[in-house]
Amino acid sequence: VQVQSRGYAATKEVAKFPGKKGSDGKYTVSLIEGDGIGPEIAQSVKDIFTAAAAPIKWESISVDPVFKDGKQSIPDAAIESIRRNYVALKGPLATPIGKGHVSLNLTLRRTFNLFANVRPCKSIQGYKTPYDNVDTVLIRENTEGEYSGIEHVVVDGVVQSIKLITREASERVLRFAFQYAQDVGRLKVRAVHKATIMKMSDGLFLSVAQRISKDYPHVDFDAELLDNACLKIVSDPTPYNDKVLVMPNLYGDILSDMCAGLIGGLGLTPSGNIGDECSIFEAVHGSAPDIAGQGLANPTALLLSSIMMLQHMGLFEHAERIQAAIFKTLAEGTTITGDLGGKAKTHEYAQAVIGNL
Ligand code: NAD
Repeated sequence: VQVQSRGYAATKEVAKFPGKKGSDGKYTVSLIEGDGIGPEIAQSVKDIFTAAAAPIKWESISVDPVFKDGKQSIPDAAIESIRRNYVALKGPLATPIGKGHVSLNLTLRRTFNLFANVRPCKSIQGYKTPYDNVDTVLIRENTEGEYSGIEHVVVDGVVQSIKLITREASERVLRFAFQYAQDVGRLKVRAVHKATIMKMSDGLFLSVAQRISKDYPHVDFDAELLDNACLKIVSDPTPYNDKVLVMPNLYGDILSDMCAGLIGGLGLTPSGNIGDECSIFEAVHGSAPDIAGQGLANPTALLLSSIMMLQHMGLFEHAERIQAAIFKTLAEGTTITGDLGGKAKTHEYAQAVIGNL
């Protein structure tokens, strides 16, 4: 797997606050271990970072909801920790279903205005999938669209859910996508949309994309309908390999899981939630309650998220070293977890990665 020179996370130019170095030369990072398999996979990251002597100190924080002014919220201590450290690594958080429960994932994104969700999708060398050459980056608008949380009952049996698209949020994520494309040398941006049907909302997103593209003359720009993009990527991902795909929230959520399927599943796909002030890195997958507590989870997605985090912080050498050990372990194929067809427990896989450092 080719690692781009600038890494596949947001670059330092994009992030105004890529971590803060302490007087001991180490960076403190807020760590949310999360629910379900979260603590098990977080332990693997901690063990591997310790073995690799990565200059990171973890500050464990709890985001167990508290009630403030009658509303569910994140504890102040957690918010202060992330604000102080600028960078956090996060395990999955289970989302309660139904009325009255706010998603903590959404709350975190809103609290820190994490407007861009970067989801690289690259084939893992040595791990066999129908295509072995996938290498694309999806950037998902992370704060509005169908996930704006504006829903109401009109009359019994009829509900409305509002898709909110604003010029401001569209401009922010599109500018980020073009800047990212320029910084990592992936000089083709494609906006994915459904403006043929969603004429006003996706139409606005698309028109903002066309306007912003003019500010980046060295980056090629085009646009594609979402359904067409889905059909084409699963038929042949090659034409998407050099591109940055940028799209509204819901489309990015779905398309990135589809792309994850192309490279071997959710156990392998990392992401970064990037904001102006802070950034939170996390696996794309959820808390996997079906396998939690059994030592069966694959920590690779969270590990690759922590690699994105290191690259975001400019710690490229440490990122490359740990990443190489992960890819070597996966390519050897002898100590891999059940989701990839192996028999290894989470900690055995982590030990194999440490052995390959
Ligand atoms: P999930 O991603 O947790 O699990 C889907 C399937 O993939 C399960 O069979 C699971 O065992 C498997 N899987 C996921 N991660 C794996 C890993 N690292 N290793 C091996 N197998 C893995 O999706 P779900 O079951 O729909 O969601 C469970 C909970 O997680 C829900 O409450 C959901 O809201 C939440 N969730 C949170 C996040 C997040 O924190 N960002 C993201 C998605 C879902």
